Amino acid sequence: MIKLTERHLEKLAIITELPLEKVTEFDTMGLFDSARAVELLIKYDWKLLKRQQKKYTAHQRIMAIANEYNITEHRVKQAIYTKRVMGYFCKKCGMPITKVEHSRNRGLCEKCTIESIKIQ
Ligand SMILES: [Zn+2]
Repeated sequence: MIKLTERHLEKLAIITELPLEKVTEFDTMGLFDSARAVELLIKYDWKLLKRQQKKYTAHQRIMAIANEYNITEHRVKQAIYTKRVMGYFCKKCGMPITKVEHSRNRGLCEKCTIESIKIQ
């Protein structure tokens, strides 16, 4: 779980169109699903960084976001490139997953599914 900073909360206020005081209050109350909040932040940052696509490669921009939230490159890509209509999250680690992954892996993400394979 990521501790959201002041700046992250400011961005969430913009994304959700809620006043910053409300967002901060919700965060303090623990109402934010952290995985979903981070996914929204990644999408937002990615959109902002698009303006710098002549200056930096896609990989550089993805890694900058990964560093910002201290998460893996894979998770950034998943947030950017996965179009989700409904929210599905891995029941073990809480990472956002696609509908296909959700039904194929019985509610687990790719990584947790692999970890759950027992080699005799
Ligand atoms: Zn998982």
